[in-house]
Amino acid sequence: MSQYPTSDWLRAGEVDELLQGAVRDDAKIRDVLHKARELKGLSLAEVATLCQIAAPQQIEELFATARSVKAQIYGQRMVLFAPLYISNVCGNECTYCAFRSSNKALPRVALKRAEIQSDTAELIRQGHKRLLLVAGEGYSAANGGFQYILDAIASVYDVTEASGNIRRLNVNLAPLEVDEFRQLKQAGIGTYQLFQESYHRNTYAAVHLSGKKRDFDWRASALDRAMQAGVDDVGMGLLLGLHDWRFELLSLMQHIGHLEQRFGVGCHTVSVPRIEPADSSALSMAPPAPVSDADFRKIIAILRLAVPYTGIILSTRESAPIRRECYALGVSQISAGSRTNPGGYSAGETGHQHAAGQFQLGDHRRLEEVVDELAQLGFIPSFCTACYRLGRTGRDFMDLAKPGLIRQKCDPNALTTFQEYLLDFAPQAVCSSGEDAIDRALEAMSARPRRTAERMLAKIRCGKRDVCC
Ligand code: SAM
Ligand code: SF4
Repeated sequence: MSQYPTSDWLRAGEVDELLQGAVRDDAKIRDVLHKARELKGLSLAEVATLCQIAAPQQIEELFATARSVKAQIYGQRMVLFAPLYISNVCGNECTYCAFRSSNKALPRVALKRAEIQSDTAELIRQGHKRLLLVAGEGYSAANGGFQYILDAIASVYDVTEASGNIRRLNVNLAPLEVDEFRQLKQAGIGTYQLFQESYHRNTYAAVHLSGKKRDFDWRASALDRAMQAGVDDVGMGLLLGLHDWRFELLSLMQHIGHLEQRFGVGCHTVSVPRIEPADSSALSMAPPAPVSDADFRKIIAILRLAVPYTGIILSTRESAPIRRECYALGVSQISAGSRTNPGGYSAGETGHQHAAGQFQLGDHRRLEEVVDELAQLGFIPSFCTACYRLGRTGRDFMDLAKPGLIRQKCDPNALTTFQEYLLDFAPQAVCSSGEDAIDRALEAMSARPRRTAERMLAKIRCGKRDVCC
């Protein structure tokens, strides 16, 4: 019996029953899609119904509904960030990951303060304002324990370049105790992200062979501890390819429902990475439950309808064409120009001491190329960090988001941060596609937010920075 029971909310039997009982019923599917347009999210049973969609006509209806919900809630903005890998030292044996402890060929690196700062400075010079700090689970006493992480966070926030600084640092770190979460909150993190990988206990046990991560319940209960400690923006995730995606999706919904019930707010973001090839991992070359491109698009669309106000994150694990297709289906945050090897930004592709990455990337484009493409597709690349910095987190954020009020803030903030990017970082070609995108976005806005945006844009164009509402 685990010390960290999750059985009160994670009910595999209920998920199995729903999936076995769900029949492909056209009328029911249409009803669920109709209900999804009300922007109130979906129940577990309704998500199970959508998981049955297979006919091309229904897939198109699902996508059309997802596109409409995405456009209503998020408009055209797309938040950008980059991961900052600080350490690949890891005591766990996750069979899909190149950082697994048995991979003796991998040079192990825990970046020092100066190295963290040099990667941070490079990312600031590219135009990033929001980073995701990532590390293996290897904070042993030898490398400073948990204090190493706290020091790393301070190191990032301490960097100031002529062109600015990092305004929001999210983290993706192994589960912590409540007191450690409190310290993370005090250190000024944005979102705490943790992927359960698989909610299927036998699958989880089969792929996590040793180390602290073997304890399923310690991991599944981590977001409760984060919330208890006051970290109210949490990010969930699945590692697609380990077990049937339908089971994983419904279990993720149970997890979100649990946090909503216990803390009044579910998760701030959700990530659905697919397993990518990784060094020293046979499993990553042939995942046991591979997710096709067609199913991947369905997963994004279903999630968009099930949890309309939760950000969906898409990383550079996916190729540029897949990313492009998924933007309109529901994705609201993407990484760009990523490296998964510690020190990779200042030392190039090979990174610190030639440390290999965690897995192969599908999209190798630089930030400016991704920004240019977004603008040409009619999106507004956003570097906004306003909500977190103005204290609009957790329930406060959802209270504004659910009645549709947050757009009045997000749209102008996206435009001003994009304008900053164009003035301070973008090459000439990107400036012209970017300015066009800003003009088109302003034209599409209603009078009040447009006036706010124009006022804020004027300040940025006059040289003021970090203007937000
Ligand atoms: N070590 C911590 C942990 O496992 O929670 C934090 C970060 S880990 C570096 C970030 C995530 O990378 C993992 O949660 C996992 O979902 C993902 N990952 C690991 N190997 C992968 C692979 N081969 N392909 C895609 N994603 C992978
Ligand atoms: Fe370590 Fe995380 Fe990789 Fe597992 S997924 S081996 S915990 S870095």
